[in-house]
Amino acid sequence: MHYASAIFSKIQEILLNSQNPEKCTDSVIEHESELHQDILIVFNTICSKLCKKTGQATEEDLDVLEVSIANLNFLWLQANLNFTPKLHSTLEHSLDHMKRFNGIVDMLEGDVELIHQIAAKIEARVSRMKNKNAQANVHSKMEAMQNSRRRQKNCKTVSEW
Ligand SMILES: [Zn+2]
Repeated sequence: MHYASAIFSKIQEILLNSQNPEKCTDSVIEHESELHQDILIVFNTICSKLCKKTGQATEEDLDVLEVSIANLNFLWLQANLNFTPKLHSTLEHSLDHMKRFNGIVDMLEGDVELIHQIAAKIEARVSRMKNKNAQANVHSKMEAMQNSRRRQKNCKTVSEW
């Protein structure tokens, strides 16, 4: 049994047994529990495929990823959830990158860590400024500078590759 099934069967049980007079109908609780459980299961499959290192994804991995992304898109719409930038990247761009490199996880780790470091650095520099407009201006200028530096570095990395 998936962890998601175990978790959501417990959540469903708690909600069904709730004495709150404003709770949803049993059928809504059951439907929503299954929907969110399925979203986690599909996410798990997608993550397991996106966790392949460069050159390690097989044709079968890419096929499973493609179907899983389509399923996630469908389930996400059913659940009426927000399409955040991270979800957009997953739905719209991850498959292309996977097909191009047959695995991307070894490229992502450094990037995510780098973004966290850059964000912390920018925050530390602008957080003490009192003028909020000036703070926002400096923040966006620093972000633009960091992005252009990163782009140059990435271009160099790709051309060396
Ligand atoms: Zn996009």
